[in-house]
Amino acid sequence: MEPYVRQTGFRRPRPMTECAQCGEPIYVPEWSEYLDATKLRHLWQCEACGYSFETTVHFAAA
Ligand SMILES: [Zn+2]
Repeated sequence: MEPYVRQTGFRRPRPMTECAQCGEPIYVPEWSEYLDATKLRHLWQCEACGYSFETTVHFAAA
């Protein structure tokens, strides 16, 4: 159901960012979706201040 909560994922680098408004680290995106085969969009929501924002990750094409 929630891919980022899988135990096997914790040893790999996780998506992590800081709140653009208050700087609090955010470890788990609220939502993630593939835009295409090489682009993944994360929606983040800060628990500290409630600010939400998006980031887009590009993967190198295999
Ligand atoms: Zn914040």
